Amino acid sequence: MSAAAAGRGRRFFVETWGCQMNELDSQRLSGQLMQHGYLPTRSPEEADLILLNSCSVREKAEQKVYSRLGEYRLLKRANPALRIGLCGCVAQQVGEDALARVRELDFVLGPARVGELAGLLPRLDAGERMVVTGFPEARSYDFDSVAREGAYKGMVTVIEGCNKHCTFCIVPTTRGPERCRPLAEVVAEVRHLLDFGFQEIELLGQTVNHWREPGGGADFADLLDAVAPLPGLRRLRFVTSFPRDFTPRMVDRFRRHANLSDYLHLPVQSGSDRILRRMGRGYTVAEYVELASRVREARSTLALSTDLIVGFPGESEEDFEATLRLVESLRFAAIFAFRYSVRPGTAAPRLGDEVPTGVAEARLQRLMAVQDRIQEAQHRDLVGRELEVLVTGWGRRPGQWSGRTSCNRTVHFDAGLAAATSGDGSVRPGRFLMVRITASHPHSLLGEPVHLHPDSEVAVAVVRSLVDLTAASSRQETRA
Ligand code: SF4
Repeated sequence: MSAAAAGRGRRFFVETWGCQMNELDSQRLSGQLMQHGYLPTRSPEEADLILLNSCSVREKAEQKVYSRLGEYRLLKRANPALRIGLCGCVAQQVGEDALARVRELDFVLGPARVGELAGLLPRLDAGERMVVTGFPEARSYDFDSVAREGAYKGMVTVIEGCNKHCTFCIVPTTRGPERCRPLAEVVAEVRHLLDFGFQEIELLGQTVNHWREPGGGADFADLLDAVAPLPGLRRLRFVTSFPRDFTPRMVDRFRRHANLSDYLHLPVQSGSDRILRRMGRGYTVAEYVELASRVREARSTLALSTDLIVGFPGESEEDFEATLRLVESLRFAAIFAFRYSVRPGTAAPRLGDEVPTGVAEARLQRLMAVQDRIQEAQHRDLVGRELEVLVTGWGRRPGQWSGRTSCNRTVHFDAGLAAATSGDGSVRPGRFLMVRITASHPHSLLGEPVHLHPDSEVAVAVVRSLVDLTAASSRQETRA
């Protein structure tokens, strides 16, 4: 039954896979739909429009997309008025083929065309099927109509696409060549988010630090200088940086701007120069290590994270051990490590010398074990420290909040204690709290909000005794 026939407003459901760029694209899609009277729903079964915003960075993305579309096509059989759209990187990659293969699919929308969704709605209503992909020079980007999810972090794209062509990566094909947004537009969007009450801003780009003012001389260090001093901006993050483009002026910004977060994601990909050459990364391990030490010198509290690919074509045991040594010596705060997978249209498969899946998988497990040990030790060292945490949402356990430190670590803490500690009981996503770290795990920390307000002493004492009582009774239950 159509929404009109059912006498309710039209609903949309967006499923998002992939990186922050995709998350933001989904927010842009949602915002346009809401401006046209659609309401979001958490259930695809009650949607009138389903959008699958896909990611193709890893292998099997395409199969995964088709299998999910297979589930959605059943919904369309029950409700012919339902419209289904495939968006994101897989959409750009498969284009027409998807429409031919899935009869129930109504449209395919590439990542560079996200701003055009609203214009497609009347054509969709008329039953037209369409493919909207490619990289037009003029693109609509209406930041006023982004449906920002959550209340704690405002994401702002500063550069789209990538010109690097690393031999393993599909991004230049799916997101197109680099395209920078003008500085004035970025600043206007950040101001707009600050006016809305966001205190943490994240600047986004596949190679965010390669931003240049279109037709001008300003670079990413200048962009940081323009954004960081904006009133109300408490934390500024940016992701993802490309090592070769990280200039001394950018390093210096960690000294100059106290509100730049204590966190830098700097993908190295391998600890072997031979493999870095095969990947076409354009830097050596020694250059990366030097850059890491310069950034750490500029900001001693900085947490450095990285991406690593294991089992890249031609990776020998020796190359892999060089990666392990790099991880041991640089002691990253986090690594995002993946087994190499072939991406269509990339150069790496032509290099030959494939690493057997079993070998690559075993290496990945060894790497993760080393990193877990490092993280565990780093987290143990944080116990007893007081860290500023931005509340991001409910924790994994009932009665807990979760938040992120400036160094991007996850901290869980008791919601009752947090409310009592805050003085006015108004703990919510987007609020900053001081939290004392009380226990550590390899991937998260446990904490206790630090007493902030003199009037809250009694409330804190009451809640603390309740928390202690609950813990004692659950220990007794466990023993029984
Ligand atoms: S710089 Fe990053 S996005 Fe660009 S091709 Fe290399 S890995 Fe892909």
